[in-house]
Amino acid sequence: MHQHMPPADSADVLVVGAGPAGSSTAFHLAQAGLDVLVLEKSVFPREKVCGDGLTPRAVKQLVTMGIPLNAEDGWFPNKGLRIIGGGVRLELEWPELSSYPGFGLVRTRLGFDETLARTAQKAGARLLEGVTVTGPVLDSGGRITGVTARPAGEAERTYRARLVVAADGNSSRLSLAMGLAKRADRPLGVAVRTYYTSPRHRDDYLESWLELWDGDRLLPGYGWIFGMGDGTSNVGLGLLNTSAAFQHTDYRGLLKRWLAGMPAGWGFAEENRTGPIRGAALPMGFNRTPHYTRGLLLAGDSGGMVNPFNGEGIAYAMESGEIAGRMIAQALARPDQAGTERALQGYPQALRDAYGGYYTLGRKFVGAIGHPGVMKFVTRHGMPRPALMRFTLKLLANLTEPRGGDAADRVINALSKLTPAA
Ligand SMILES: Cc1cc2nc3c(=O)[nH]c(=O)nc-3n(C[C@H](O)[C@H](O)[C@H](O)COP(=O)(O)OP(=O)(O)OC[C@H]3O[C@@H](n4cnc5c(N)ncnc54)[C@H](O)[C@@H]3O)c2cc1C
Repeated sequence: MHQHMPPADSADVLVVGAGPAGSSTAFHLAQAGLDVLVLEKSVFPREKVCGDGLTPRAVKQLVTMGIPLNAEDGWFPNKGLRIIGGGVRLELEWPELSSYPGFGLVRTRLGFDETLARTAQKAGARLLEGVTVTGPVLDSGGRITGVTARPAGEAERTYRARLVVAADGNSSRLSLAMGLAKRADRPLGVAVRTYYTSPRHRDDYLESWLELWDGDRLLPGYGWIFGMGDGTSNVGLGLLNTSAAFQHTDYRGLLKRWLAGMPAGWGFAEENRTGPIRGAALPMGFNRTPHYTRGLLLAGDSGGMVNPFNGEGIAYAMESGEIAGRMIAQALARPDQAGTERALQGYPQALRDAYGGYYTLGRKFVGAIGHPGVMKFVTRHGMPRPALMRFTLKLLANLTEPRGGDAADRVINALSKLTPAA
């Protein structure tokens, strides 16, 4: 009996996942004139568990993609970071730099991710929603030449391309199927968040609380309150896996106990909660490598690109997508396979150059604050010193001028350069 086999769809590049990493990759590939096909298992608009906070690094990426950032479209701007801890409340404006804009934004991922995906489409990328990638298609040498995928309600089929980008997020089944597991020697965070209607919804600072207590234990992580500008606040907390508490923490309970200590007027009470408390992991400091192997590039969470200092992942997902897009365009323009491979090796190298030293520093930081004594010391002795905290803000948010800059910029850049990129 003959079975009808649909023709295999093909493209220059397949991008698996249309989160910030996938859409950014696809946008830059399409701009370079390549035929790019994005496969996304969900259908937009879709939720993603997130704090919804965007620093100036992320804003820069949005500007690069030509996305209008109007209030009518749900973008709510912020001026900086408010840090609360050690009995002090400190407001730190985003630094004024030539390399990054001086403002951040907040927007729910419901609208954010769809906007990015539609922008990639407008640039020329083809996007198929409701298509779940089930595995890699390999040649005899173990190189990926496509993927198998299941469009909703249909039979499994095959998509082929010269290169594949895994932008499928933290669990990255595609990377796993290619033999790339998470590295146990790299940090991982876990965070939970929910929304409350709150009079604080138009707060124009991102607020973070450095002291999370579980009984008399100070935990390595922080809580956040981000006003969404739409009547609600995104409230959540994240912890690092460097502490003994990591495995055994009841995150939802911890969030509720933390919020129970807030002023009643802020509205963070059960009756004002507008959605469930949901959690997910934050893969940090390059916790999946190599970022290129056998025709597969990793971008965003799949490559563990979350900043270990502050849990920020969107900017790094978008930046790695841009770097991947540019590198692939160069690689595919080479006349032979050897040249293409040589160019693709530039991708992990470019990531190491961009974040390697900083992330190694971050791993040390994460290791240090895993010791409760260190965390206590930082909040007690660090907080009352505004100059030190401004330095800390630049360090934590990775906002420095690459060249020149002020004393803080130069110290952070020097530290990042001195620390071996691994
Ligand atoms: C609670 C929490 C709070 C956070 N807060 C912030 C914050 O305030 N600011 C910030 O910058 N970062 C934050 N992060 C980190 C941020 O959410 C991630 O770093 C970011 O979403 C990574 O983008 P990505 O595109 O790599 O992956 P994702 O956003 O996870 O996108 C992956 C996409 O791939 C799709 N996909 C997965 N598997 C398949 C498959 N098999 N086939 C097809 N498609 C597939 C998914 O549906 C999804 O659309 C937070 C994370 C958590 C958990």
